[in-house]
Amino acid sequence: MRCLNCGKELTGKQTRHCSDKCRMALKRTEAKPEPEQNESEQVKAEQIMPEQAEPEQRITDEQWAELLAEKPDSVTPPRAKPTADTAGLSKEELTSAINYDVAWWELPEYAELILRLLTWTDEQLAGYWLPAWRQNRKVG
Ligand SMILES: [Zn+2]
Repeated sequence: MRCLNCGKELTGKQTRHCSDKCRMALKRTEAKPEPEQNESEQVKAEQIMPEQAEPEQRITDEQWAELLAEKPDSVTPPRAKPTADTAGLSKEELTSAINYDVAWWELPEYAELILRLLTWTDEQLAGYWLPAWRQNRKVG
């Protein structure tokens, strides 16, 4: 039998390696497949990342401008645009974000609320506080 690491003739009880040094070296080489797997997973992740990193546009600037033109002038124009994130927010989450921010008109949450008031039907807006202008607006 020879050492699997350095090839030196093994003696006595030794079956795979001649010394602790070679045992450790062998352990390292045998453990190699793992980092290789991680590497390929990393490559996969990098291939997926660019798609995820792209900012999701729910509504184009043009569509948003057209929609906002339909709101009464008395309504403070939102400075942000509704995002993919705000789409998933509940009525409570929207209103609490707006209520607790001094610059609420800059929040995408406020933009989201205006978007819903402009485009959602009465049924979808059940439970929402509706301003007078929305009560007179026919949607759908
Ligand atoms: Zn050895």
